[in-house]
Amino acid sequence: MNKPLMRIPYTGPLPAPTIIPRNANTLHGAIAALSTFLTAPLSGALERSSTADPQSTVVLSGAGISVASGLADYRGSNGTYRVNKTYRPIYYHEFLANHEARKRYWARSFLGWTNLHKARPNAAHYAVKKLGEMGIVRSVITQNVDSFHSIAHPEMPTLELHGYLRALTCVTCHNDLPREAFQDALARLNPAWAEFLAEAIASGALDSEDPNERRAKGMKTNPDGDVDLPGAPYSTFRYPACPHCLATPPIAADGTQTKVEVDGEGAWKSTSTAGILKPAVVMFGESIASKVKEAAENAIDGSGRLLVMGTSLATYSAWRLARRAKDRGMPIGILNLGGVRGEELFFQNLPPAQTGEHGVRLEMPTDKILPGLVEQLRRIGFEKPSANISHTNEEAHTNSRVFKDMLS
Ligand SMILES: [Zn+2]
Repeated sequence: MNKPLMRIPYTGPLPAPTIIPRNANTLHGAIAALSTFLTAPLSGALERSSTADPQSTVVLSGAGISVASGLADYRGSNGTYRVNKTYRPIYYHEFLANHEARKRYWARSFLGWTNLHKARPNAAHYAVKKLGEMGIVRSVITQNVDSFHSIAHPEMPTLELHGYLRALTCVTCHNDLPREAFQDALARLNPAWAEFLAEAIASGALDSEDPNERRAKGMKTNPDGDVDLPGAPYSTFRYPACPHCLATPPIAADGTQTKVEVDGEGAWKSTSTAGILKPAVVMFGESIASKVKEAAENAIDGSGRLLVMGTSLATYSAWRLARRAKDRGMPIGILNLGGVRGEELFFQNLPPAQTGEHGVRLEMPTDKILPGLVEQLRRIGFEKPSANISHTNEEAHTNSRVFKDMLS
């Protein structure tokens, strides 16, 4: 049996990139190289292989593409956490095992949701939509849990490799619950925190993720960026039980009857043996479902090129997809600020005179270069969707449903 694929953070230092081709170090040069990369005819084994659409590109995106939407990219250019050095994400086993850890997680998440909920896709996501309409990008695999790709281009198949924050899922019955409803329930169960959140929003303290800036705007945080309210510490934070398990406590895998107990207002009690809700994301230390893993592999195998953007490929689950593309002989493009894990491997043995058709390595913000790229492609005749592209779109709709089913 294969080793389960765990999502774990990789914190080793990453060397600075070598720009490929060399003249792609200006915006003009980078756009020209990327345009060549995406439109050059493919030759060789890939064209003759069983690849569904060898002329198309699959995008693999990460946190860097969401920075222009106001979401923090926790990784600096050398691969370390830069916003908050002491920040440590919660691990799946900890979340499952520990009621106290869940209280802390949900208190932080309660405060953090507002920023995500009001954030919107940016120019890079909409440029990806345009590249899809032009028939250039066939599908997206994203490590992001912010749902921006599916909001910006719902018609294109998007696989959310690490899940999404827009919903919760029950660890017992696996039913989903929309995050908005859950947020309302948290506010109801934690009135002091709801009041604090309203004040923090009004003061602008939540506009930054930097603990120093937050403190300057009057928000009391401890050194790791956490908030502990006087009179309402973490230990008193309450969260709801899964409504399905509460209504009908399920039978456990070992055949025993589970029990779900709540207090008078519906908060989960630690005497329960089921009904714990978790964010519908793959937490650190949690395995990616094999059907998601396979769907991601199929998205790679169905395309002729891979364009990596806004990610240092720090998680192994993303890195191995790029490795898979390399092993298939697919040209690889990387657009990222800062180094990428093991990137020299992806650009070995490129013909020295190539201008982007065999590979590109660019270091520019995605929201700056991608709109310019779309303009450039329009100028060279990718303006009008052809009959061939509408066929691709039809296929895309089907694939979109497949992906959603795979994640449900
Ligand atoms: Zn449940």
